Parts: sequence; C-alpha cells; structure tokens
Amino acid sequence: MKIKCPKCDGIALLADDFSFVKCEPCALDMTYGEYVKIIAYKDHTYSDILGDYTNSTEGTKAGTLDDW
Ligand SMILES: [Zn+2]
Repeated sequence: MKIKCPKCDGIALLADDFSFVKCEPCALDMTYGEYVKIIAYKDHTYSDILGDYTNSTEGTKAGTLDDW
C-alpha cells in the first residue's frame, strides 16, 4: 500500500506484509519498525495509532531490527 514517505514527503510503498517500506525517488529502504519510529517521532498523532506495534519493539535500536 502507499504511505507517506518520512524522508521526502512523497509516496512510499509499504509491503503488504508490513515487512519493509520503500520510496524510489529518495532511495528510502527500511523496515516497517524503523518507519514507525520515525513517523512517531515526527508526528505524535501516529504514535497513538501505532502504539501497540511500537510498544512491542520498545528499547530495541532501529539498526538491530534486520537481525530478527
Ligand atoms: Zn521518499
């Protein structure tokens, strides 16, 4: 599905299984967990919607998500 790119504010692509987020114009390529953290940091209204997900990964550094 299409979502807002946190990097260039364009249209990024979220994988159907929520495994990754990609945006071709700015070469964004990150896990959904990293995306959620960036969005939550930039816009606190998103942190309410995605609270359940962010709580489950709380305390984990973004760079370690790829190792799961
Ligand atoms: Zn982008």
